[in-house]
Amino acid sequence: MVSRPAEFCPRCGSALETITFDGRERANCPACDRVVWHNPVPCAGVAVVDGGGDETGRDGDRHTEPAVLCVKRGVPPGVGEWTIPGGHMEVGEEPAAAAARELEEETGISVDPDALEILDATNLPPRTGKHVVTIHYVVERSATTGVPSAGSDAMDARFFSPGEFDASDEAFRPIHEQRFRAAAARFE
Ligand SMILES: [Zn+2]
Repeated sequence: MVSRPAEFCPRCGSALETITFDGRERANCPACDRVVWHNPVPCAGVAVVDGGGDETGRDGDRHTEPAVLCVKRGVPPGVGEWTIPGGHMEVGEEPAAAAARELEEETGISVDPDALEILDATNLPPRTGKHVVTIHYVVERSATTGVPSAGSDAMDARFFSPGEFDASDEAFRPIHEQRFRAAAARFE
């Protein structure tokens, strides 16, 4: 199994041929007589939402509308674009544990994976032949601990409300903007 279309067999190195199997075109190794499956890669992430209201949040920020913790990408692709924290699942890792791990790595915020609720599970448009299926969670800020700080692969980490983001000249990675707004809308 590969995450990008293969030209050569990962087992024997032979050039692959294209066959039709189970109604789709597949890469097949004629030497091994085996299909080299091209499958999506699972990812997980979590939107931490500060529900707003009159109280001052733990970060000292006062949000009058729900605000979502976002990270600014520091590595390609999309350097400088904002995302909801997330990334690849490790082998043997539960999706919620992966989302909590990525959150802590990227923002310094900790959360118990059991506190996460599923926001959506989506097949993302492919980039350079790699297809990603992402499981996205949502959790209230009050269930988390720590102060946001930019961690691995991030230039910045902070809460934005939709209104604050719209008033800025910042940009989201496209799929993440939908998540950002869906997560904030849950707490309106
Ligand atoms: Zn082979």
